[in-house]
Amino acid sequence: MPADFDTIVNLSKKRGFVFQASEIYGGLRSAYDYGPLGVELLRNVKEQWWRSMVRMRDDVVGLDSAILQSPEVWVASGHVASFSDPLVECRTCNARHRVDKLKDPNKCPTCGNSGTFTEPKEFNLMFKTHMGPVESEDNAVYLRPETAQGIFTNFENVRRTARMKLPFGIAQVGKSFRNEITPGQFVFRTREFEQMEMEYFCYPDAADETFDQWIATRNAWYDDLGMDTTKLRTHPHSEDELAHYAAGAFDIEYEFPWGWDELEGIHNRTDFDLKAHMEHSGEDLTYFDQESDSRFVPYVIETAAGATRTTFAFLIDAYTEEEVNGESRVVLKLDPRLAPVKVAVLPLSKKPDLVETTNKVARALRESWQIEVDVTQSIGRRYRRQDEIGTPFCVTVDFDSLDDNQVTVRDRDTMAQDRIAIDQLKSYLIEKLPS
Ligand code: ATP
Repeated sequence: MPADFDTIVNLSKKRGFVFQASEIYGGLRSAYDYGPLGVELLRNVKEQWWRSMVRMRDDVVGLDSAILQSPEVWVASGHVASFSDPLVECRTCNARHRVDKLKDPNKCPTCGNSGTFTEPKEFNLMFKTHMGPVESEDNAVYLRPETAQGIFTNFENVRRTARMKLPFGIAQVGKSFRNEITPGQFVFRTREFEQMEMEYFCYPDAADETFDQWIATRNAWYDDLGMDTTKLRTHPHSEDELAHYAAGAFDIEYEFPWGWDELEGIHNRTDFDLKAHMEHSGEDLTYFDQESDSRFVPYVIETAAGATRTTFAFLIDAYTEEEVNGESRVVLKLDPRLAPVKVAVLPLSKKPDLVETTNKVARALRESWQIEVDVTQSIGRRYRRQDEIGTPFCVTVDFDSLDDNQVTVRDRDTMAQDRIAIDQLKSYLIEKLPS
């Protein structure tokens, strides 16, 4: 059965994936905190992205640029002038909406009245603050609305120090901020979120081919991590949807409980950004190609994914309710690489010698994986809790374990149980838990 939205939100709160930010003060709308399980899942998503985009490739290197950059950066990039959404206000109920996201551009989705919208006004999405003690326009700075610009401004630093030759990419994971007009759908659209972006610099005449390759590579990433491919589609932007910098753009979309929506954008940004930064900074950001003995500005193919949004999609995608021997169970069928807890170690009872052996087993496994020890409630209920948070393996220490030095390993998906010697447990799990 597919997950419905409320079920996922409730599971997230109940099990400690995501909490409302500032909950004890009534909550701050559209801001969320990631709890003990959520932070592990989010880290694993980012780690898998980094692994496939940086560590496994010899043509992409990483970067971690500052959230606060010179305001000139955002003038050059076009964000000060045109990073805005068209905002209308309903004259009846005062609700504000993004015109381009309205199902019926004439009807207010909040109060249902027609024809009462104000004229659309462009609303800049960047958060503005001040650097230093004086609140004046001269020291205004912006919280970055995307991580990409920190990559473009470091193009020459990275090329020179990492001795990169075209084609090559620079990848970055980090927080971005957008003062969204209509945040919502839980962590899908928030004002503070995390992105996983990569800018791939290439020869201008290779841009189209490189663009197609990255669409395939990024689709394969979701597939490899077990996302249901029938719920993934790649959707081209029409001319009027294209961002100010893009010559071509595709969205990878997921079928969320409310319909198809974007997970990741893949854009052909041409030489727009490097040229803009050259013009505004006066620095030379051209590339010298030894083979052709020529200088030019590289083209850029961008893959821009949301880490928090993708984490939410993996959570929705993994949620399964199934019937086993006449009983229903909830299980998060997360790929083991994403699962927040890899192995739960459970003593059959709270007897001290069982708990002692449990702790010994857990200590040995902790060197390699995120482990949870759970001693309370019946073993059946503890299995169900681990299923519900997606733990791939439960290791049970029972009374026989004290004599035969073996434990029972239960597989989350098949629920099959294997009896394994404690000194073989780690190698058994290494086989089953890829990194
Ligand atoms: P949208 O049309 O949904 O506003 P966008 O096309 O402006 O998104 P990009 O600028 O391409 O988004 O950003 C790349 C990715 O960053 C998006 O695909 C999404 O996963 C993530 N992202 C963008 N805005 C948000 C947000 N407000 N909350 C969470 N994730 C976001």
